[in-house]
Amino acid sequence: MNIHEYQAKAVLRSFGVPVSNGLPAFSVDEAVKAAEKLGGPVWVVKAQIHAGGRGKAGGVKVVKSIGDVKKEAARLLGATLITHQTGPKGKQVNRLYVEEGCAIAKEFYLSMLVDRATARIAVVASTEGGMDIEQVAHDTPEKIVTISIDPTANICPHHVRRLSRALGLDADLQKQMSPLLTYLHKAFVEKDMSLLEINPLVVTKDGKLLCLDAKVGFDDNALYRHPDVAALRDETEEDEKEIEASKYDLNYVALDGSIGCMVNGAGLAMATMDIIKLYGMEPANFLDVGGSASKEKVAAAFKIITSDPKVKGILINIFGGIMKCDVIAEGVVAAVKEVGLQVPLVVRLEGTNVALGKKIIAESGLNVTSADDLDDAAQKIVAAVKKAA
Ligand code: GDP
Ligand code: MN
Repeated sequence: MNIHEYQAKAVLRSFGVPVSNGLPAFSVDEAVKAAEKLGGPVWVVKAQIHAGGRGKAGGVKVVKSIGDVKKEAARLLGATLITHQTGPKGKQVNRLYVEEGCAIAKEFYLSMLVDRATARIAVVASTEGGMDIEQVAHDTPEKIVTISIDPTANICPHHVRRLSRALGLDADLQKQMSPLLTYLHKAFVEKDMSLLEINPLVVTKDGKLLCLDAKVGFDDNALYRHPDVAALRDETEEDEKEIEASKYDLNYVALDGSIGCMVNGAGLAMATMDIIKLYGMEPANFLDVGGSASKEKVAAAFKIITSDPKVKGILINIFGGIMKCDVIAEGVVAAVKEVGLQVPLVVRLEGTNVALGKKIIAESGLNVTSADDLDDAAQKIVAAVKKAA
């Protein structure tokens, strides 16, 4: 789960991490009041959306009068920001963050993430902050340092020294880096974050380290023990289909292709997506209905897939182990009866109760193409979609 910058900064502030004073605003009036309360003489009006690249897209404005706060707030609220992370549709700005402006001397990049290869938290830093870190990694990878944190030792003086050397910090800044890194790491661990990105981490003209931006993602599987974090969820930032899927505890990820997939098991779902690509089309989603899906859950999944206008064909690929083929068949038949079926449907069933499952589909009167194996199924759905187009 991702949260907004202003929420992330509030979390970090509570751990002692240095961030500027700021206030969220949901209307132009609130933005003006926030600016008055903060004082000035410089403010930064920041669009709050779950995407980076706001600065380049005009979503971050440094202003020097209350009048300009008002002007920028009016321009941004309700507007759609298109950044390199939002996709071409962009994201609508419904919230702003008004912050005290600061004078920047230097911008760095600093992040923490779970590194699966080392099974540790990795700290990634670069002198090339403020801009696209992906670009830096591609063009000048030597400008990025990665440090791996031993979970039994946490942040140690040698981490601070290495990082400070890499960023070229003087003794005074190094002294500030020590608590900064410790608090960030503490926040990361205690709140079960999966990503914490500070870009830029700045040195102000009066020689202070300050986190000027914060992007935080949390491990969904640990949210149950952080009700305070779960309460920060902004559903308007998420895909409607993914929200609906989460209500039914379905592992669903919306994608850009045209073939809807309903599969049991994450590995089989990945293989199904791969084979669709192999035959020249793209999956519209990842969906693992899980091992113990009920008829209702299957029906909900089917409805989510068909509600996506990009879906031009559906491939159901079930290998019944714990999941029974007849339950899948019943769920699909129930869903089609309710919402209809406008696109070709190919079903491949194998495993537990397969004969019963096939019988339910055959007797349902649905226009379904059945397939014998995954290869056959993928070719059939691709051919059917091409033919219908
Ligand atoms: P992003 O583009 O979505 O990553 O948004 P950021 O929060 O990183 O803001 C983009 C850029 O705006 C930063 O890299 C800074 O250069 C600039 N910026 C943000 N806050 C301030 C500020 O208080 N003073 C000044 N001078 N620039 C700022
Ligand atoms: Mn940034």
